[in-house]
Amino acid sequence: MECMRTAGSLLAALLLSGVAVAQHSGIDVQVYGLHITLPDSGRSILGQAVVSFVRQARVDSILALDLVGMTVDSVTIIDATFDRLTARFRYDGRVLRIPLPAGRVRDTLGVVVDYHGTPQDGLIIGPNARGRRVAFADNWPERARFWLPTVDRPADKAIAGFTVRVPPSWKVVSNGVEVWIDNYGRGDSWRWRTRHPIPTYTMVIGAGEFAVSKHRPVINGRDTIPIQVWTYPEDSAFADSVPFRRATEIVEVMQRLIGPFPYEKLAHVQSSTKFGGMENSSAIFYAEKPYVERKMGEGVVRHETAHQWFGDAVTERDWPDIWLSEGFATYFDGVIGAALDGDTVLANSMRANAESYFKSDVTDRPIVDSGYAADPIKLLSANSYPKGAWVLHMLRGTIGDSAFFRGLRTYYRTYRDSTATSSDFQRVIEKEARTNLGWFFHQWLYQPGYPQLDVTWQYDAGAGKVLLGITQRQKLEWGLFRLPAVTLEFRGTNGATVRRDVAVSASNREASARVDVPFAPTEVRVDPDGKLLLRVTIGRR
Ligand SMILES: [Zn+2]
Repeated sequence: MECMRTAGSLLAALLLSGVAVAQHSGIDVQVYGLHITLPDSGRSILGQAVVSFVRQARVDSILALDLVGMTVDSVTIIDATFDRLTARFRYDGRVLRIPLPAGRVRDTLGVVVDYHGTPQDGLIIGPNARGRRVAFADNWPERARFWLPTVDRPADKAIAGFTVRVPPSWKVVSNGVEVWIDNYGRGDSWRWRTRHPIPTYTMVIGAGEFAVSKHRPVINGRDTIPIQVWTYPEDSAFADSVPFRRATEIVEVMQRLIGPFPYEKLAHVQSSTKFGGMENSSAIFYAEKPYVERKMGEGVVRHETAHQWFGDAVTERDWPDIWLSEGFATYFDGVIGAALDGDTVLANSMRANAESYFKSDVTDRPIVDSGYAADPIKLLSANSYPKGAWVLHMLRGTIGDSAFFRGLRTYYRTYRDSTATSSDFQRVIEKEARTNLGWFFHQWLYQPGYPQLDVTWQYDAGAGKVLLGITQRQKLEWGLFRLPAVTLEFRGTNGATVRRDVAVSASNREASARVDVPFAPTEVRVDPDGKLLLRVTIGRR
């Protein structure tokens, strides 16, 4: 997602939700069938959730579903022989506990939960920026539980199907494909269903009066997927002509670089999400205000579209690995921009990423930060986003374009529709690059900070050599960094230029080197192409 400056209310919601956490070991949800009736007025919803799951172990005698602040009317169990049993259940307002009948390991069971209430969060119902009544889900990170009974954690992905009953003039958008249903004259229902498992934090509905435009699914003779732009009617022409003008091209670039789009369609939806953009699987929600103010650009579209591959199709197994989602989307914003408009887009974006990381308050913490595992909002930081993007950029520089993109394609193919950890990613990349990269991932993911180099130089005219002194002067607590190839560019009079790579070792804070330079340099530049996340001071001795 992309953040807006409204983290305060989200933080409050998280504090509210962080008291009781359901224990879910041994239960693997397969399908959620979610039936929601939205009211004509007020904010109270009627819900029915049909949850189909596999029991991993005989000992799992209780299904615990996260559900906050609703009233549970009844629970029915559908056992392995499809018998329906009325269940006794316990609900403390935060976790719904349903005792299960004895059964075999790996049997499939279902429960039907009927409930109602006014969601405190997660499903926002009220007037939009154009003054019309709308309803939008906004689940990240663990806010699905305020309106949906779910195993609300990224590790348990499942297929989701929504059936939503709405007032007559409304349309409904959701994940997956639209399924035609006969309403039998009972008001307006809309049904959507995914064919792929998705994380609960992206299971959403958006309902209201929309203008829907369809963008062409073919670009340069290559097929993509159906692309829809859902907006408030007043903002439709702007959306189609500015932020989403190249929506198809963006998908095509990612398909060419990484692999097929993971879902059946992509809807770009104007919404009341608290985030600048939220990468809900196949139905991205964007903040409404930048449309209304006509300030919305393409960057957020590139970022959220890239998330469909990284974050949605391949999901971080747990929050401390969130850079696998946000670092990738931040990097691919620049990579897609470079593919569409030239390499300077990526160079400028990496420079901006470095500056925002350097001036952040998280440089003393590592990217993979288990200290914040229970507090995902704190992980939406300059570590997960810009530094995460830099990890990918430096990895690409270390192993080369070909191994890098081959590795990403294999990683996507291997973990698509599943979850991954940083170690899973490392293993795939090491295999494709045929080299051990333990040192690389350790220093950039698990060590805080970044290298700060003091470089001094002196020309020995007799030997035709430059004598270099290189000191890593970053804080001791950050540790030392190994930089196998730091490029130095020596410039002389009359435009003479020569480049030499020197290795910086993690075993010594101070090092020296001698490199051949066929002229007396007047200037030395370190890392002239911006391939490394570092800060440098250069002085002549
Ligand atoms: Zn993001």
